[in-house]
Amino acid sequence: VEKKCLWEQSLVSNIPSPHTRQEWEPPCINRVFPDVLSMIGNTPLVKLNNIPKAEGLKCNIYAKCEFVNPGGSIKDRMVKRMFEDAENQGLIKPGMTIIELSSGNTGIAMALISALKGYNCIIVMPEKISEEKEMVIKSLGAEVVRVPVTETASSQGGLFGTANRLHKEIPNSFIFDQFNHPGNPLTHYDTTANEILYQLNNKVDMIVFGGGTGGTVSGIGRKFREVSPQTKIIGFDPEGSQFAYPESLNRSDVKFWEIEGIGYEFVPGALDQHVCDYWIKTKDPESLRMARRLMKEEGLLVGMSSGAALSAAIQAARDLKENQNVVIFLPDSIRNYMTKFVTDRWMEAKGFQICENKNNLWWWNKPVSSFPFKI
Ligand code: PMP
Repeated sequence: VEKKCLWEQSLVSNIPSPHTRQEWEPPCINRVFPDVLSMIGNTPLVKLNNIPKAEGLKCNIYAKCEFVNPGGSIKDRMVKRMFEDAENQGLIKPGMTIIELSSGNTGIAMALISALKGYNCIIVMPEKISEEKEMVIKSLGAEVVRVPVTETASSQGGLFGTANRLHKEIPNSFIFDQFNHPGNPLTHYDTTANEILYQLNNKVDMIVFGGGTGGTVSGIGRKFREVSPQTKIIGFDPEGSQFAYPESLNRSDVKFWEIEGIGYEFVPGALDQHVCDYWIKTKDPESLRMARRLMKEEGLLVGMSSGAALSAAIQAARDLKENQNVVIFLPDSIRNYMTKFVTDRWMEAKGFQICENKNNLWWWNKPVSSFPFKI
């Protein structure tokens, strides 16, 4: 017999091999795209199998994997929509400078689409946002202007003030303002909500989401109210932020939260708080613990707000029954936080203590003295 290299032995039927071969079936959808913009949306839904069981939940929890969008987050969807609307209305054309306020993911989507379409791009974002997001934005050819955490969103040196100043200074510039742009909730109303209903054969018993601008909450919430009124709609919001309703829920001594992309100290125009049946306030330690559990126990390499989503869903879904379906969102991925909650060093520096218990789960011990949050 001719001597074959190790793996080639598996290809030749007359040589016994311990390795099984796999049949290949063509998938029902041929995923060849004419360009990167066409890859936005139509994201997969994946069932969580280990954490809900460990938590004693009877219902199914499905997670919408928004991190597979080309820019790495849910924000690609609405940035594409806002560009299309503005170009169709003749408000922008290539060569102009796009200025946008962002907690990073919108910035990445803006930079990506600006690069593809031939616009200059400047992203104004708070200092608390990860270095990783800034690196991605810059790698796409855009500029980043940081705003100190000490500034409120509406103060002159804050997010809106800085963006408006740049807009005045830079000729041929344009601000979409995702916080107040109708295209933001509309894209989720028109597409994301329908995708979820289609993926689960219209059987969605509960949907749980957080807000950064409120686009996801308002757009998907409104569509579900209209076409799936039996679905319970739950909003979550980090302690310290002002998105929850009734307002009394937001009363807290906490002024800062680590989870990026969700919550602000003002209520954006794109957020309809009343579309939710109720709101849950999430806490950083539990949100980060859940984000790390999503990696370790479900193999999902997600970002911080995904952990907040799961911590809220577990609280909200306690009484749901077998075969009932809950949907959560995984808005972005580990890529944005490699030097943050992904590392034990960062967790410890921020006062989150870690130990491994006998079931190989990660737990946060009682906080050390510098711990800035209430558990
Ligand atoms: N999670 C992350 C990580 C985000 O960047 C965002 C957007 N800021 C959201 C959740 C919330 O999305 P929305 O702006 O639609 O409220």
